[in-house]
Amino acid sequence: MITLQGKGVFGGIAIGEIAFYKRDSGVIQRRKVEDTDAEVQRFEDAKAEAIRELGELYDKAVSEVGESNAMLFQTHQFMLEDLDYVEAITNMIKTQSINAEYAVSATGDNFSQMFAAMDDDYMRERAADVKDISARVVKILSGVSENGLVTDKPVILAADDLAPSETVQLNKDMVLSFVTQGGSTNSHTAILARTMNIPAIIGIGTALDEKYEGKQAIVDGQSGSLIIDPDEATMAVYVKKKEEHMEKQRLLQQLKGKETVSLDGKKVKLYANIGNASDIGAVIQNDAAGIGLFRSEFLYLENSDFPSEEEQFKVYKYVAETLAGKQVIIRTLDIGADKQIDYFNLPHEENPAMGYRAIRICLTQKEIFRTQLRALLRASAFGNIAIMFPMIIALEEVLEIKRIVKSVMAELDESGIPYNKEIQLGIMIETPAAAMISDDLAKEVDFFSVGTNDLTQYTTAVDRQNANLENFYYPHHKAILRLIKMAADNAHKNGIWIGICGELGADMELTETFLAMGIDELSVSPACVLPLRQKIRETSVKDRQEEILKDVL
Ligand code: PEP
Ligand code: MG
Repeated sequence: MITLQGKGVFGGIAIGEIAFYKRDSGVIQRRKVEDTDAEVQRFEDAKAEAIRELGELYDKAVSEVGESNAMLFQTHQFMLEDLDYVEAITNMIKTQSINAEYAVSATGDNFSQMFAAMDDDYMRERAADVKDISARVVKILSGVSENGLVTDKPVILAADDLAPSETVQLNKDMVLSFVTQGGSTNSHTAILARTMNIPAIIGIGTALDEKYEGKQAIVDGQSGSLIIDPDEATMAVYVKKKEEHMEKQRLLQQLKGKETVSLDGKKVKLYANIGNASDIGAVIQNDAAGIGLFRSEFLYLENSDFPSEEEQFKVYKYVAETLAGKQVIIRTLDIGADKQIDYFNLPHEENPAMGYRAIRICLTQKEIFRTQLRALLRASAFGNIAIMFPMIIALEEVLEIKRIVKSVMAELDESGIPYNKEIQLGIMIETPAAAMISDDLAKEVDFFSVGTNDLTQYTTAVDRQNANLENFYYPHHKAILRLIKMAADNAHKNGIWIGICGELGADMELTETFLAMGIDELSVSPACVLPLRQKIRETSVKDRQEEILKDVL
């Protein structure tokens, strides 16, 4: 039994086998193996699978392009059985105690060079073939598939870290938990785990080695421990803990249908964050009063090209209709920084978090923005949609956004297309600049929503993606709380509401502080809705606002 320690970013217990996320990096790592016989067997199994695949390709080719053209696949099958080739690989594994992938790849390269140097034309042509068959076997050995997760049962997914473009492609039903070498508290892998209501551990470091592939393990998302090959006694303890955790979650169900109101009578709009229309089930199950942040960029991340107005309209309409009159706040495209999409062809940047992202793209490539706005406005005829704009730093941006929205509305009017003319427009307060000028901004919009993930990053100059900075990550930093308070005061002075949709909204150590500031809305991962409702219902800040906020001010 081995225990690896990281940082738990979402509680709960998961028990299952570890499977590493597979990336076809093209680079084959050389690894030491202890059991060389088992490694030779892995090679034999992969070879048999390659021969089977080639048989299928042969049959398909015979029927489609005729036998003579299909012969190549048979030749490849024979080559895989070639004694010299097989012996070279098995010897390499045994004598050097190395992994099969490396042995196959190195032997493929050696044989290819040998063939290429021969005089005979026929033999020279075999140089490419031996590389081809080796690549096929390596691919099978490393289990590379389209979505990077190769499994037929739910697993604990291990990775160095996962990019948003990778997580969108995951078959979520097959993931019991995320455990990563790097990562940070507010990385999108952590946010995804919270949305999926599964435990997750980040920052385990290189101790999370691929040699643990296939091992039975326990994830304790609370303590951040990953226990590999647990002994019977430990397993029994965690099976019990898991049951207790589930029982707690069952008890929370009793809060469904109850109001989110503090002991001293402050009503809070308790909303949920989603990245995807498929998260709506969790929103409804957890009885959120609305959606406070729909990260619309995931619609773009899932696509291989710009989603059309019609495609977007259908999704927004579906979400609005399903929420049946409850508010749905859809944030416009927040691409760039950690969320990269190939077809946007964004230039490489030295400092992407401070670069061309979010509203900056929308205000530069206006057609992308107008398409999304048309889809959003059209969908607003079918439910209670509000639109929110990310990464605002200047009043001029808000004025420009409003001009564009007006002009899109005029277009819709001309075509007689219905939309909600009173639609609420809000902005994210996620840069210190926006918080500092929130008095001006509040006069131009209907609401604020504080993005504490980015606000923390930009206020403290700590890259939210950088695992090495976890020790410098101060979520309760006075500077951040002061900026939130400043934005809240300015919102209220100007008669608009303010919410928090960053991860800090669910931090129950701050619930009292947020209530004392008069925060009107909290939008959190669906799984955090009921625990937070319980917390708010147990909290009173009556006559204690000043005392609670004295540390902030
Ligand atoms: C935030 O920055 O707090 C936020 C909610 O937006 P995202 O995490 O998508 O950047
Ligand atoms: Mg943000």
